[in-house]
Amino acid sequence: MKKLLLVGNWKSHKTLQEAHTFMIAFLNNSFIEWLHTHAENEDKSKRIIICPPILLIPDLDRMLEQIQAKIPIDLGVQDISPFPIGSHTGEVAASEIVGLAKYVIVGHSERRKEFGETDELVFQKVNAAKESGLEPIFCVQGKDTAVPEGIKIVAYEPIGAIGSAHPDDPQHAESVAAFFKEEKHIPFVLYGGSITAENVSLYTTKPHIDGVLVGGASLDPTSFSEIIQRA
Ligand code: PEP
Repeated sequence: MKKLLLVGNWKSHKTLQEAHTFMIAFLNNSFIEWLHTHAENEDKSKRIIICPPILLIPDLDRMLEQIQAKIPIDLGVQDISPFPIGSHTGEVAASEIVGLAKYVIVGHSERRKEFGETDELVFQKVNAAKESGLEPIFCVQGKDTAVPEGIKIVAYEPIGAIGSAHPDDPQHAESVAAFFKEEKHIPFVLYGGSITAENVSLYTTKPHIDGVLVGGASLDPTSFSEIIQRA
């Protein structure tokens, strides 16, 4: 059975009120019904991971707990401190996240570009995440991005495809996914970059692509639920 991971990266979007409004619309009765009946079938299962701004995590965790009726939705954070708990102003340590979120996005090209994150730093973040039992979703920009040992989920996100309405050619994305799965032995390889409800199945039906990382289109409850349904 193919297991698809469908990850929404909200980046620095949504206030608490907007996140509540999103969740109420996203988890409407018909989508919950769909999740119960279709999220798992004989040939594929779908796991949804929402990565909101870190401040919203406890509230969304509570909301999901309240409606927990075996819905395959988990929370993730978008970044993590490379350090353990201690005197590191402004940082949130992995051990502070445990129990609230299971996943952490590491190495996103926006963090590499805007915050100067180096391979060395992202490797430290991966170690910090793994020591606390968080699962890194490790972003690579191409085949030559260095990947630390023990990574289970890679998200291939070519820079030009992010937020540009110019997604990578599905066959090219498939060949990069095949490289990471076969040569680097990564169990799950996702594609990210301008995914929409219209194009998602061009990627998720490829044999080596195990899901998608979605930015802009995950902000709207209707488009994100359509992406999940059509994946
Ligand atoms: C991203 O930034 O991870 C991303 C995939 O963005 P978008 O879907 O908006 O291209």
